[in-house]
Amino acid sequence: MTDTPTQLFIGGAWVDAADGATMPVDDPATGEILCRVADAGAKDAQRAEDAAVQAQEEWARTAPRVRSEILRRAYEIIVERTDELAHLMTAEMGKPLAEARGEVAYAAEFFRWFSEEAVRIEGGHGVLPDGRNRMLLSRRPVGPCLLITPWNFPLAMGTRKIGPAIAAGCTMILKPAPQTPLSSLALAAILKEAGLPDGVLNVVTTSRAGEVCEPLLRGGRIRKLSFTGSTNVGRLLLAQSAEAVVRTSMELGGNAPFIVFEDADLDKAVDGAMVAKMRNMGEACTAANRFFVHTSVVEEFGRRLAERMGALVVGPGTRDGVDVGPLIDRTGRAKVEELVADAVERGARVLVGGRTPEGPGCFYPPTVLTDVASDSRLMDTEIFGPVAAILTFDDEDEVIRRANDTPWGLVGYVFTEGLDRALRVSERLEVGMVGLNTGLVSNPAAPFGGVKQSGLGREGGRVGIDEFLEYQYLAVPVR
Ligand code: NAP
Repeated sequence: MTDTPTQLFIGGAWVDAADGATMPVDDPATGEILCRVADAGAKDAQRAEDAAVQAQEEWARTAPRVRSEILRRAYEIIVERTDELAHLMTAEMGKPLAEARGEVAYAAEFFRWFSEEAVRIEGGHGVLPDGRNRMLLSRRPVGPCLLITPWNFPLAMGTRKIGPAIAAGCTMILKPAPQTPLSSLALAAILKEAGLPDGVLNVVTTSRAGEVCEPLLRGGRIRKLSFTGSTNVGRLLLAQSAEAVVRTSMELGGNAPFIVFEDADLDKAVDGAMVAKMRNMGEACTAANRFFVHTSVVEEFGRRLAERMGALVVGPGTRDGVDVGPLIDRTGRAKVEELVADAVERGARVLVGGRTPEGPGCFYPPTVLTDVASDSRLMDTEIFGPVAAILTFDDEDEVIRRANDTPWGLVGYVFTEGLDRALRVSERLEVGMVGLNTGLVSNPAAPFGGVKQSGLGREGGRVGIDEFLEYQYLAVPVR
């Protein structure tokens, strides 16, 4: 912790906010202040923008192999420092150390993946159908980017954007969430050490998101916004981006259905549910939010899930043997409490959990609710906590209709042993990703993203770099 930078990273230098402002970073396990970091304002955003704009031209001309090797070196440094980065992440975000180590590996993989993609940016060449012109097609970086990330995956949400931006030859300003700035600042230090030229990455930590970001989006020099966060904020940023016609990638909220058919292997379904619900304490956009379980197996599924959830150990993420850390803050926990109270009021039964523990920290116990009514608030609100809400269904068409009855469409989970049904149901779900008999879909080599109000564009996979590239077409007469 003592070596972690706490200043802004602008033009390759560590600097204080222009007005000297700082903001606290809290430990969600104790509620105590861990440290203070620089709190950027509009002037700092302007400095960061100047640095990114100035560095853009040379960076775009830098050989792809050079960009690739910087990412590769950064990947190796991250892996070497897994323990240090995991402790930092657990301190500011709360997740148990084992999960933090898992996120460090996941985050590093985006750098390895995009180090491989940096050298495979291809154009095209051909004669057009009329035979009069040739077409030369080249790809170029979109230009300086604004990257905005949430607190729930403090390192991976950054590398998932920075990796392809570096690979494509874009410069950037990263604005991490105010709850978890330290992982992003540590990442900036690693990229500097790996040889990233000054100005290519700038990091502005701030509690004044609007003041910092809106002028950047409206100003006309930032050419791309890549945002991960809630749908409400995404909608606002899309409107702000419209003025200067800024290209956007949006990774927004989810409301994942988790469907267990009567022919499902219940061992797989319960294992899958534990991952889809409990990864990151339920604070994931991919978290299963609505469990639809066939009437014939609901009792056994609910009992087995409640047993597994009830056996999890809740406590500070740094303590050995802890499975479930604190939620991010008191507001996040209060929302979970309200959603559970509302569901219970409407007739849900609590199979396990459901009671906020006394004492410091933002802890909430793993909770299973069954007989949840369809009009409960948690049916159309991201729970973002360790609460599994079970509803029943009898018929395939009916469950598909109910699963799709939401403005979101990020991910869905389907558990069945029937191949035909697995494919049929997956194809009919209005989502960008499906976990078939598995509770985990995230992988740097796969295109991550949603449909409907869960977002625009994809991150990771072969297409992840496309979000940061433009085509240029040259018409050349055939003579
Ligand atoms: P959030 O409130 O939308 O905030 C996300 C980021 O946007 C934060 O850095 C936040 O900073 C910033 N922000 C908020 N208002 C802004 C404004 N007016 N201008 C510029 N930036 C602004 O979301 P969150 O609570 O941090 O994260 C949870 C949400 O992220 C959930 O909805 C989850 O589903 C979603 N998520 C989606 C994915 C995905 O890949 N689809 C992945 C992870 C999380 P401030 O906090 O300072 O406002």
